[in-house]
Amino acid sequence: MPETMQTITLLENHSAAPGQHLLTFTRPEGWPFRAGQFARLGLSESGSEPIFRAYSIAGAPDEPVLRFLVKHVEGGALSPRLTSLRKGSEVLLDGDAQGNLLPERIPGGSDLWLFATGSGLAPFLSLLSDRSARSAWSRTVLVIGARTLAETEGLKALAQERAAEGDLTLTAASREDGPLTGRLPALFESGALEAAAGLAISPEASRVLLCGNPDFIKAMRALFKARGMVSPRFGKPGQLLVESLW
Ligand SMILES: Cc1cc2nc3c(=O)[nH]c(=O)nc-3n(C[C@H](O)[C@H](O)[C@H](O)COP(=O)(O)OP(=O)(O)OC[C@H]3O[C@@H](n4cnc5c(N)ncnc54)[C@H](O)[C@@H]3O)c2cc1C
Repeated sequence: MPETMQTITLLENHSAAPGQHLLTFTRPEGWPFRAGQFARLGLSESGSEPIFRAYSIAGAPDEPVLRFLVKHVEGGALSPRLTSLRKGSEVLLDGDAQGNLLPERIPGGSDLWLFATGSGLAPFLSLLSDRSARSAWSRTVLVIGARTLAETEGLKALAQERAAEGDLTLTAASREDGPLTGRLPALFESGALEAAAGLAISPEASRVLLCGNPDFIKAMRALFKARGMVSPRFGKPGQLLVESLW
């Protein structure tokens, strides 16, 4: 096994929502990470090279374990195997934690908005658990989008275990009627999300993190750009950070 690779052991496989598994592993000693970063997890194939994929870390940086929220992607090469693992199974952890979905890169404002679709919630579970990472903002609004109410409710329950008093969580199912119905970009564009939160989004007051599928990221990025909110680039400050799951 290359020096950069370590083995971690599955402690719990919790089915958190349809197709979404919260996997809890042992954490190697001296393996630091910051809320918002991801790890590369892999499984060996008999007789061939192991397969690796990136997974955002869903646990708190000060916990003695590593948590991941993994979606079972039908026909996928790795995720169906990861989500069906049993307690005691070993998984490969490649290298150090990586990634730039770090809220300290977008200082300023008073409100932190976190928008996730599906397992894009993972880095925000870490962030919600890390009081010091979000102490720069006085309000935190989490917005979760998924197809069905069973998914949004399961994901919301995970978030609420980590939320602090005063945090607001909004959910929107795109295929079933609920408190908010539709895709997040359409609900943002129509003003329905801000109305439901009772809070306006502006470049002065708000800092925004997005994590989810590429269509959602593209659509939301364009809507934020139209409001004068962009990602930091070449030393120029910004209000928006994004991470696409594929
Ligand atoms: C920085 C980063 C962080 C990531 N964090 C997570 C995470 O926290 N949880 C997680 O489940 N995945 C996450 N992913 C996606 C993950 O790396 C894999 O792509 C995913 O598990 C599918 O791998 P697979 O081998 O099963 O599918 P593959 O055979 O590689 O098929 C890939 C296809 O699966 C679909 N897909 C990929 N990811 C998802 C997803 N999350 N939900 C629905 N469909 C998907 C897309 O259609 C994609 O084209 C992340 C990806 C990146 C780049």
